[in-house]
Amino acid sequence: MPNPSPVNAVLVINSGSSSVKYALFTDSDQAVLTGLAERLNTAEAQLSWKSQGEKQVKTLPNAQVGDILPLLLAQVSKQISGLDNLLAIGHRVVHGGELFSEPTRITHDNLVQLKSISHLAPLHNPANIVAIEILLQQQPSIPQVAVFDTAFHQSMPEKAYRYALPNALYHQHGIRRYGFHGTSHQFVSQQAMKELQWPKQTGMIVAHLGNGCSATAVYQGQSLDTSMGLTPLEGLMMGTRSGNIDPSIPTFLQLQLGMNAEKVEHILNKESGLLGISELSNDMRSLLDARNKGNELAKLAIDMFCYRLAKEIAGLATALPHWDALVFTGGIGENSKPIREQTISNLAAFGLKLNPDANQEPEAHGHLIHQADSRVQIAVITTNEEWQIASQSLSLVQQ
Ligand code: ADP
Repeated sequence: MPNPSPVNAVLVINSGSSSVKYALFTDSDQAVLTGLAERLNTAEAQLSWKSQGEKQVKTLPNAQVGDILPLLLAQVSKQISGLDNLLAIGHRVVHGGELFSEPTRITHDNLVQLKSISHLAPLHNPANIVAIEILLQQQPSIPQVAVFDTAFHQSMPEKAYRYALPNALYHQHGIRRYGFHGTSHQFVSQQAMKELQWPKQTGMIVAHLGNGCSATAVYQGQSLDTSMGLTPLEGLMMGTRSGNIDPSIPTFLQLQLGMNAEKVEHILNKESGLLGISELSNDMRSLLDARNKGNELAKLAIDMFCYRLAKEIAGLATALPHWDALVFTGGIGENSKPIREQTISNLAAFGLKLNPDANQEPEAHGHLIHQADSRVQIAVITTNEEWQIASQSLSLVQQ
């Protein structure tokens, strides 16, 4: 049944080069409609969506973003009895560079500015912009808002965001650390303070562990340092990304092994991380199953993941005036009891102690999982990036 009197309807769109994810929120933090168009521009393109618990799939051979948007707007319109009831469209935009440190209402002028920084995320920003431009043209009366993955980290101090490279590379080319997953880190740190009644002065490290993984030091609601850098490749070991490596390895691969730049980039982004080490999967569930069955490479991949995560967390504590809390989130952080356990055991030197009873599933969600004498509090908080984008977009258009 369509919602007869929709309150605060906001559509969130995450448009990629071959996919469009969307979620419609009306009067709560649970989406009333979610959908995914995938494998766009191929013969296998399809749109799947879910509302009122019902799932539907439609194949749309060779469909492009421009074909999908009218279809999803028709679904939205049906759900909220007309697009006049849609208060805003919030777009997840990957890179805001130094120009965008807040959610921003999109105008023709700032779209020009946004385009000027596309080179910082050449695989992502142009795809975000395609959807924005089509909707600006087709639905000029619906306010559109860009919410940036990098924005939350614009509060990092210069000592944290600069690379020790010649100054000109920063000043002339913007080569610096930007950080990503900002929407999630901001939402989860705020949510932890709210749900667990932590004071604003809590020195917190948030570990967002999904297919992409990053950790952020948060203090007084601000990001002070984060593990990702100019691109999401820096920092933690991830599903298929290497995370930190000796910076000489890419040139070694090119000069000694004769690889071209595209091949090197592909190896580091798509063939490394959990997949590269396990030679099995980038999916943590599959690796935990394989480890239980005695697979040595799966065990090594998990050992490396947890060790490197602990090492990054310990390093990030340096950014905080005092380290009081560690928060796990994302698909792995929220759901994987053994990964939390192994990561925390690697932090024993810092006085972190896990309470194994509290670390069970699903009880751990929204709860503290440390022992009473742990030097740092440990919690599991569910992220909801789409909702954060929706609520930020709504606040902006209602200002
Ligand atoms: P994305 O970064 O694409 O949003 P998610 O946050 O959904 O991804 O996280 C996906 C990861 O979470 C995968 O590696 C998946 O195996 C892992 N995951 C989900 N549920 C579990 C679970 N119960 N145990 C271990 N890992 C899990």
